[in-house]
Amino acid sequence: MRYAILSDIHANLEALTAVLEALKAERIDRYLCLGDSVGYGADPAACLGRLQELGAVMIAGNHEWACLGKLDVGWFNDAARAAITWTRDQLGFVELNALRRLPLTATEGPFTLAHGTLHQPSRFEYLVELGQVIDTLRACRTLMCLVGHTHVPVVVEYDRTKQKVARMLTEPRKLSDVQVHEDAQRWRYLVNPGSVGQPRDGRPEASYAIIDADGWRLAIRRTAYDVATAARKIRDAGLPALLADRLLVGR
Ligand code: ZN
Repeated sequence: MRYAILSDIHANLEALTAVLEALKAERIDRYLCLGDSVGYGADPAACLGRLQELGAVMIAGNHEWACLGKLDVGWFNDAARAAITWTRDQLGFVELNALRRLPLTATEGPFTLAHGTLHQPSRFEYLVELGQVIDTLRACRTLMCLVGHTHVPVVVEYDRTKQKVARMLTEPRKLSDVQVHEDAQRWRYLVNPGSVGQPRDGRPEASYAIIDADGWRLAIRRTAYDVATAARKIRDAGLPALLADRLLVGR
């Protein structure tokens, strides 16, 4: 089975379209989507439609929860709060109901999906400290835990026998081809594919992962897209200009 892992699409239809186009040559069997499919960008309904057409396995992120009123918007900064109110107004009854049905975590074959951390998913914490990484991996009952939220790609390999991190990969070259140990008795992996629609690692190209679960290889890929159009649509929609500007620099 070949999986495409998409996270933090953030209503960026230009980025999502470019990624799906690039994935056409990859013989993907299943699409897994790690939350924050909406919020910030100008095309929430269209992005949800594309994911539905793909039959993607989806979970909720903090932006879905905020749109549904399940998360206090006081938790967000001004630009994010404005985007949440705007997004909620763009979505119809059917779309909001679809968001309401999304779970906070899901299991699909060898993968467990969570947006922030797996051990406390409803807190939507940024998984940045080693202690959180280990708590999430210890809560994970499958070989891999797939997370998003930080918009920065990373792969962590954890040795359960030695109870320590064996590898932490952040460099683009190393992330482009990772050989995975498939023995789930001994190993756990944390994989953040980065963000499709609002990368924050200093590169504007859409970020996502491809995992081949037969040969157990993993690749974080980047795809350039029409950033200028996505940014212009954000401005034209009356959304905060900084949400457009940051796409250009990938921050
Ligand atoms: Zn996000």
